[in-house]
Amino acid sequence: MGSLHKGHAKLIKSAMDLDATKSSKVLVSVFINPLQFGDNEDFERYPRNLENDCALAKASGASAIWAPSFEEVFKGGASSHFQLKVPSNLEAHLCGPKRPGHFDGVATVMVRLLTLVRPQKLFLGEKDWQQLVILRHLINNLGLPIEIVGIDTVRDADGLAYSSRNKYLTPEQRQKALALPRLLANAAKEVRYGNSVNLKDLQNMLEQHNLEVEYVETVDPFQLQSTKTDQKICILAAAVNCGGTRLIDHTFLMPRPPIIAIDGPAGAGKSTVTRALAKRLNLIYLDTGAMYRAVTWLIQTQNIDPQDNIAVMRILENLNLELNQSEAGDQKILINSHDVTEIIRSPEVTSFVSTVAAINSVREALTIQQKQIGIKGGLVAEGRDIGTAVFPDADLKIFLTASAVERARRRASDLKSRGFATQDLNTLEAEIKERDRIDSTRKISPLLKADDAIELISDGMTIENVIDSILEIFHSRIPKEVWPIDHP
Ligand code: C5P
Repeated sequence: MGSLHKGHAKLIKSAMDLDATKSSKVLVSVFINPLQFGDNEDFERYPRNLENDCALAKASGASAIWAPSFEEVFKGGASSHFQLKVPSNLEAHLCGPKRPGHFDGVATVMVRLLTLVRPQKLFLGEKDWQQLVILRHLINNLGLPIEIVGIDTVRDADGLAYSSRNKYLTPEQRQKALALPRLLANAAKEVRYGNSVNLKDLQNMLEQHNLEVEYVETVDPFQLQSTKTDQKICILAAAVNCGGTRLIDHTFLMPRPPIIAIDGPAGAGKSTVTRALAKRLNLIYLDTGAMYRAVTWLIQTQNIDPQDNIAVMRILENLNLELNQSEAGDQKILINSHDVTEIIRSPEVTSFVSTVAAINSVREALTIQQKQIGIKGGLVAEGRDIGTAVFPDADLKIFLTASAVERARRRASDLKSRGFATQDLNTLEAEIKERDRIDSTRKISPLLKADDAIELISDGMTIENVIDSILEIFHSRIPKEVWPIDHP
């Protein structure tokens, strides 16, 4: 909406930086959209300075600035255009209830601007987190071929988030306003130390600084709903009125480092993707399939009948399963001190593992160990029941799949690279389908897409494509400012 500041400059620079070839054009749009202002809001006095905007856009590297008139955007008046209605769940919290119609106005104008410009990427500030989330849902819902890139909030040296409305503040009001970012940052720190946040106390503290509180709320960062658990990362957001100026700010509460669950059928590429994600995000890599494979190997080498509950229980009682992560991010698997890292990938183990994984006592024992490994968070786990049974509180759940033919092809090349004899593709495909069948129909923790998981079908995608897509989804929920790539 113009009155550009350092936050906008960062959007422009990020857009420039992201294009390594420097062949794209970065367009800055400036449009003060009357549809998103309520009757008593500041449309008339909203700061306007196109000359400064042009200078800042140019200095930041923009290729062009576009400041259309109302008539250019809404030819014939807004009423002769389709108007969008944001789903009520996305505006049930935070600014939604306080600014009726605001996000409808934002959504309506964004679709107009995007259809006029047709950009490949849209750079938006994370400062207006709810707006960003609503626009992500909108673009996804309409299937527009545009990638949204969220850019973290830029703050002035005193901690106040840049906003065009900061211009309204007198120096005294600005001093009072600083309590907002400071108290939010303190709350985030408390949560990192294992304490909880009392929203009522936070509201009182803001009020003690003469800030009139519109809301202080915690919601989950992507669906924007009240959080049901205090284990997951959530957004703590507030809106205050400071001497007639409405200010919003937020932080992320992270009670533990993130957990990513990657489930899916055999051969979908989970292992490669999970290992790479763990490396890029500096999280622990947990391959739960390897655990089931190791127990299968033990049962096979000890000639135990999987139906013999007592013999299986005896094995589980004396089980010492170690998963050691190497510097390179690979995982070494030791069972009762035997290094079984390679042998558990053999066709013999593969053809029997689903039968062993369907045994209740085996599942119980391994699930307990997996939960224990993830008790402090900070891991990417792959398997069949991670999002449903092992880490139902995971911050991100991906269900990675591909057609059976594609998965058979990948399995063949995996076996070849490990030095095992390859079976023909039809046999591998039949075996994969059989494993899918056993895994999805067993009584406890069957292979199932969790309700809140995102399905990724990887046919036709390279491993890099899949990793990039997951990283993008991850950062739409857990922003880079909280957990960047190459997290220290
Ligand atoms: O992923 P991978 O192919 O190594 O898994 C081997 C088998 O282990 C699966 O087919 C499945 O039967 C079992 N498994 C499971 N639950 C998990 C992970 C693997 O039942 N969480």
